Order: sequence, then C-alpha cells, then structure tokens
Amino acid sequence: MRTIVLWDIDNTLLYTGGAGSLAMARAFRDLYGVEDAFRRIEFSGRTDTAIFGDAARAHGIAAVRMPGETARFLDAYVPHLRDALHEVSGGALMPGVIDVLGALSARPDVVQGLGTGNFRRGGELKLRHFGIDGYFPTMAGGFGDDSGDRAEVIARGIERLRDGDGAGARLVVIGDTPQDVAAAHANGAFALAVATGRHPADELREAGADLALDDLADAERVERVICG
Ligand SMILES: [Mg+2]
Repeated sequence: MRTIVLWDIDNTLLYTGGAGSLAMARAFRDLYGVEDAFRRIEFSGRTDTAIFGDAARAHGIAAVRMPGETARFLDAYVPHLRDALHEVSGGALMPGVIDVLGALSARPDVVQGLGTGNFRRGGELKLRHFGIDGYFPTMAGGFGDDSGDRAEVIARGIERLRDGDGAGARLVVIGDTPQDVAAAHANGAFALAVATGRHPADELREAGADLALDDLADAERVERVICG
C-alpha cells in the first residue's frame, strides 16, 4: 500500500535557532512600526497565518484588511528570514532526520511532502538553509498559506500529495506538538509524534499520538512504523 507522509518543519525536521520568530518581528516592525509585536503570541504548533493574524489584531489591524496584509507581511518576512537564518546560532537538523528522509525517498511506495504551519516560501528557505530541500523537490504539501487552521493545512497537503490518485493510501503525519496530532487525526492519518520540540513524549501520548518517540534517531524503526 502506498504511504503518504506529511512532515512538520519546526522542531520536527529542524530547529532554526529562533530565526523564524526574529524575522517575523522584524517584518512587523518594518510594516507597522511596532517592536516585539509577537511577544505575547504563541507560535508552537500554529500556522503562520494564525500567528500573524493574532499579532495584527493585537495591534489594531482590521480583519477586513487581513488577506492583503498577510501577503504584504509575507513579502516583508521572507528577506528577513533569509538573513536571520544566517545570523542566529544554535540551529540544527533533528536527530535521525537525514536517515529517515533518505530511507523514505528511496522507497517507491512512499510519497513525502510537508504538512507545516510555515508559509510555503518561509518553509522552503528553512529546508534549503539546512540542506534538505532536495528531499522535497516540488515543495508539495500543505502550508500556513492555505489556512489558519492546521487540520485544513493537512487536508490540503493530503489532497496535493495524492495528486489526483484517490485510491486508498496510508497517511502519516509527523510532528512535535499536540496540534500536529489533532490535525493528523482530523484527517484520518497516523500521528507520529516526536518529542524534539517542547512537548515531552508522555504529553504527546496523552494528546493521542499513535506513537510518540523521543526523537527519530532509530531510523530503521521509524521507517517500519511509517510504512506500516
Ligand atoms: Mg513543529
């Protein structure tokens, strides 16, 4: 049976060292003159559209302006992200990620893509910076641009990765937060949770993860789990 895998990016594939939030803060400052606009805004497990929406509302940007403002914000964010990725320290790929990506990409029965809250252009920069963009040559999947709601992002990702092939496939979502788990289940996918973010494995298990691992270092086991 074919398996469709959707990867979360932040704290699942990689940790940027805080480049994403730094770049968002700088973009917001450039556009609206507000420093540290995201100070009270939760980032973890959320989509960039929802994160920006919260900040925009908190600083008085009317809802009716949001579609246009989100596009403007994205244009301001991308160059800041490119700079910030080089500027911050402490960024890294998560353990085992390269081996798992390599093993899955060698299998004809697996289609890999992204299921991430990142804006597509932001996600692409992060993958390229850490040298794993080659595993996602068409950047197929679901992104923060698609919706503020993570379950809808995953739904769009599945639709694109199926690529018109409606036949049954095993669906696997890999992520580091309870939101990834919920979005997986909302779409009938197996939720593989990995505790490389701020949520320990126990908490991810309690959130309903079908399997919660400390990390992906045991790539052979991870491949077995993913492929069923
Ligand atoms: Mg994440």
